[in-house]
Amino acid sequence: MRGNRPELLAASLRAENPGIEERIQKWLTGVDGPPYAHWFYRGPRERGAVRYKQIAIRNDGRWTVEYVHRVMFALHRGDIPAGYEVSHECQTKWCVRPDHMELRLPAEHRLLDAAFRKFVGGIPLNNILYWRIRKEGTD
Ligand SMILES: [Zn+2]
Repeated sequence: MRGNRPELLAASLRAENPGIEERIQKWLTGVDGPPYAHWFYRGPRERGAVRYKQIAIRNDGRWTVEYVHRVMFALHRGDIPAGYEVSHECQTKWCVRPDHMELRLPAEHRLLDAAFRKFVGGIPLNNILYWRIRKEGTD
């Protein structure tokens, strides 16, 4: 994702949004698949998301709209500090699988994405290629 986002803290998310995990879980597909399988969120777009699925949550006492992949990361991997972005290491922007994502600083995130685009030459990444990159790197 791009742009400055506030921090997202797992404990606050759970405290302010009771049942948030179940609310997301019921819309997930792919969760029974192998480790390289993406998880997709089939829930409604709660606002006009163009690139990412979004969900309405309470954060820091206010209703806001947040990206589902960021919420999933915070809940399952840990807090997202302010200034950090959640990078889709699987390069599948609609994926919300927590272990397919990493925290990155914006500059690092852009470099990775640029390296990926160069590597694949614009060809969509399939699961097998994804898995090889995870195991072997891009060099
Ligand atoms: Zn993925």
